[in-house]
Amino acid sequence: MAEQRTVSVLLIEDDPGDARLIRLLLSRARGCALEHVQRLAEGLERLAAGGIDVVLLDFSLPDSRGIESFRALRDAHPEVAVIVLTSLDDDDVALLAVTEGAQDYLVKRDVDTRLLPRAVRYAAERHRAELALRKSEERYALAVRGANDGLWDWDLERDNLFLSPRWKAMLGYEDGEVSDGLESWLGLVEDGDRDTLRSALATHFDGDAANFELEHRMRHKDGHQVWVLTRGVAVRDGKGRVVRMVGSQSDITARKLAEQQLVYDAFHDALTGLANRALLLDRMAVAMAAGRRGSGNPFALLFLDLDRFKTVNDSLGHVVGDRLLVAIARQLERLVRPGDTVARLGGDEFAVLVHNVRDAAAAVHVAERVQASLVAPFAIQGQEVFVNMSIGIALSGEAAPDPESMLRDADLAMYRAKDAGRGRYEVFDLELHRAALRLLKLETELRRAVAAGDFVMHYQPIIALDGGKIVGFEALVRWQHAERGLIPPARFIAVAEETGLIAPLGWFVLDQACAQAATWQRKFPAEPPLFMSVNVSGKLFKQATAVDQVLGILGRSQLPPESLRLEVTENVVLEHGETVMQRLLELRALGVQLSIDDFGTGYSSLSYLQRFRYDSLKIDRSFVSGIEGAGDSRTIVETILNLASHLGIGVVAEGVETAEQLSRLRQMGCALGQGFWFAQALDVPAAEELMASSPSW
Ligand code: C2E
Ligand code: CA
Ligand code: CA
Repeated sequence: MAEQRTVSVLLIEDDPGDARLIRLLLSRARGCALEHVQRLAEGLERLAAGGIDVVLLDFSLPDSRGIESFRALRDAHPEVAVIVLTSLDDDDVALLAVTEGAQDYLVKRDVDTRLLPRAVRYAAERHRAELALRKSEERYALAVRGANDGLWDWDLERDNLFLSPRWKAMLGYEDGEVSDGLESWLGLVEDGDRDTLRSALATHFDGDAANFELEHRMRHKDGHQVWVLTRGVAVRDGKGRVVRMVGSQSDITARKLAEQQLVYDAFHDALTGLANRALLLDRMAVAMAAGRRGSGNPFALLFLDLDRFKTVNDSLGHVVGDRLLVAIARQLERLVRPGDTVARLGGDEFAVLVHNVRDAAAAVHVAERVQASLVAPFAIQGQEVFVNMSIGIALSGEAAPDPESMLRDADLAMYRAKDAGRGRYEVFDLELHRAALRLLKLETELRRAVAAGDFVMHYQPIIALDGGKIVGFEALVRWQHAERGLIPPARFIAVAEETGLIAPLGWFVLDQACAQAATWQRKFPAEPPLFMSVNVSGKLFKQATAVDQVLGILGRSQLPPESLRLEVTENVVLEHGETVMQRLLELRALGVQLSIDDFGTGYSSLSYLQRFRYDSLKIDRSFVSGIEGAGDSRTIVETILNLASHLGIGVVAEGVETAEQLSRLRQMGCALGQGFWFAQALDVPAAEELMASSPSW
């Protein structure tokens, strides 16, 4: 022990010769301070004043004898270590004193300069340790009573480990079935935890840890695992050697299982038992870290999304939906190798972390295997359910610096797969990444622009081919970008549609266009008055208030409903549902005109024309541009014109660019035309200048 505290020794000895001898022997030892009294009563008095560590007690005193002296001392001052001094003949009594708590006994004749100081110091230290132990034993006793702990007491000097009956019962053994001893303790520790226990003990012995405390597993007599908390304190001798260790063992199996359940729940999907997003990300992080260290293998992440799961849920119910998800989970597990991770990210989204994937081709192979496995239907509650999955693939070592980004990349690729048609896969690449970044930037800027109203309207004249006069305009929006100038709608309308920004933008456009039309009707009177064609997204009419909004705009601008033409594409019903069409027809009943844009490019044109009432259609410019050649375009245009006249609806030919196209359209009897041949979309001053010049084509 590094600290060499001075040990205060009180010698109680009536024989002057013996006293002189002791004083002599101790005077050579450093760190011992000796005081001397001759009677027990004096000794007790001195001890009451405090400061004494060790008493050297002669067994034949004038006022007390033998064991009685010792007991008196011990009971009055248990904090003091006692060494009994005897002559040979009362050896037995001295031994008795030791069993009752004396630290040692010395035969006066045998003591020498080496033995005595060592005995004194040792007695002081050991007594201190025992006091500490007793304190902790008291603490343990308290804890034990409550916790029903098992106890152990390990005497290292005698190499004897006592295990309490309760300790043994905790592991299913009768007292007699387990012998005491370190080996029988270690023998019941789980193989995997034995070394941990040994090294934890060693750490405590080395003094590196003040308390010994370890949670580990033991093996119960009937074979199951028992989680225990083992605690203990070492008792050290004067040199710091551990001489004894006492501790407890508590059964913490219930807590451990609850903890394990919590951990399990935190990392698994409750429905399918698959890993959840958190666990997947964790496993990816591990794989990525291994990759960076150079010890890992390339891996792939597959992001899988069920096509039309909502339909299954809605038509067959949630129970079938849930069972389907579970069946798919099991299927996916069967398709991958044991080390791979199948996760459910929520809803109908799954992911698979596939290790050892050399290249995209290998990852694609897995995706194809998944899709091939889905060709056969799932049998669920007597139903055959067919499913498809769209799969996005991301490879490690690509752009993604962290698991979240890689998951996002795979997600992005999945979306592109879905866009391309269902039941497909797509591999993420850097171009896709850059495009996503561009899109993200555009989205943010567009959001700001919509909030700030950074848009201007241009208007393109629509001409009556018979007479060549301007009869109306089509409103075409432009984004006025601070750095990039005017941005054409082709660059941002689709994004606006996807982000929902089309609604505020659309109402802005309609408001501007109606106000402009009303102004022009006053400035440039005509018969019939100039009309305004406005492109509207079906999304606008998903809002229940759409009809009122349009009526409000018309009311504020004082534009007659008949002067407003709403241009919708023929896919509007397909994309937005019939309610949208019903709202448009409601407006039509109030006088607003409905026009089909880009006619001929969408689906089932004819049937839609017949089902819904439109007032006019716009022949797509791809047909108009082909009208001069010998191809099908001319026939198509003629057919459309025939059909329109048959149904009694108006026609506008879009994209008229040449005199030739114009004369052909005139010959075919097309009523209205629009295109660069007449004028481009113009800003307000240019449009007014044009009208003021009363042009005629
Ligand atoms: P669209 O409805 O087919 O509009 C006609 C487009 O053709 C306009 O392009 C116009 O400038 C262009 N164009 C006109 N004459 C000719 C021609 O002779 N030759 C050629 N090659 N092109 C011609 P713009 O203004 O870039 O608009 C593109 C599309 O953006 C529009 O196609 C329309 O679908 C959409 N759009 C424009 N403004 C709005 C709007 O306010 N709301 C909505 N929802 N969509 C709009
Ligand atoms: Ca249009
Ligand atoms: Ca068009």
